Amino acid sequence: HSKRVGRNAFTIFDESLGAEADERIWLESEIKKALASDAFTLHYQPRFDIRTQTIVAAEALIRWKHPDRGYIPPNRFIPVCEEMGVIDQIGDMVCRKACEQLNIWHRQNIAIDVSVNISPKQFQSPGIVTLFEEVAAKAEFPTRCLELEITETSLCGDDAEVAEKVHRITELGFRLALDDFGTGYSNLVHISRFPVQCVKLDMSFVQKLPETGPLLQLIFALAKQIGATTVAEGVERSEQLEWLKHHHCDEVQGFLFSQAVPADELAKMLPVGFIEKSVA
Ligand code: C2E
Ligand code: MG
Ligand code: MG
Ligand code: MG
Repeated sequence: HSKRVGRNAFTIFDESLGAEADERIWLESEIKKALASDAFTLHYQPRFDIRTQTIVAAEALIRWKHPDRGYIPPNRFIPVCEEMGVIDQIGDMVCRKACEQLNIWHRQNIAIDVSVNISPKQFQSPGIVTLFEEVAAKAEFPTRCLELEITETSLCGDDAEVAEKVHRITELGFRLALDDFGTGYSNLVHISRFPVQCVKLDMSFVQKLPETGPLLQLIFALAKQIGATTVAEGVERSEQLEWLKHHHCDEVQGFLFSQAVPADELAKMLPVGFIEKSVA
């Protein structure tokens, strides 16, 4: 493009590329430091039953508060972690922290389900089964309380290998959710071939209601067929909530209710006498 706008554009173009490369180098070295100093934490965003409006689960979301730059969003650094080859390390840490938190809550008789995001790169790596075997061994809660949020991309690739992995993880009792459902190249084969307990609708659909209504209704019907719970993400307005209620979506998550908060704050949001739901 630079040729069209003349000679000076070359300099500008080069400089901006240089700045981008610098930023990238900076991010990589800061990520390494953050990993070494255990600077990543988890916040939890509650998920509500749409009818009773009570908290049924919470999504663990990674948070990184940089000492100089403040919070850096996951969408900014997770792709870099993937490219650097440290996503397994990050993912392991996230799963272990979520497991520790679940143990704490369970000891306090707070029975909330937690979901963790598993990047496709981590799901594809062979270590994922061992990781969840270790988590299962350390868990002081029923393993069904921990759910893996994966995307359809994770279910692509070598069929037998993926099926074996899914089988071993779900056999341990962990549940599977399909995250960002409906985006990318959705292949409906995946949802019917695997034991998926939960379908999380991408927030872009919720935010484009009512135009996306027919598509959402189709996904709800499909989810019901396979016995999966439907969760609408990114619910920000009461009109969206009303639409979802009217069309029998099961659960909602979004800023209308709460953003992701530290674990102790989430515990405060639970009703007094929150009873062990997983035992019932
Ligand atoms: P996601 O898994 O789809 O998570 C939902 C994202 O939507 C979160 O952003 C959440 O804060 C945001 N969100 C929830 N409700 C609303 C709403 O009403 N409005 C708006 N505008 N946003 C809402 P966050 O925490 O920035 O995470 C972004 C993405 O980064 C996640 O999307 C997930 O793909 C990835 N991510 C986050 N934590 C982890 C992690 O621990 N491991 C991996 N591998 N990926 C993670
Ligand atoms: Mg998610
Ligand atoms: Mg999502
Ligand atoms: Mg997403």
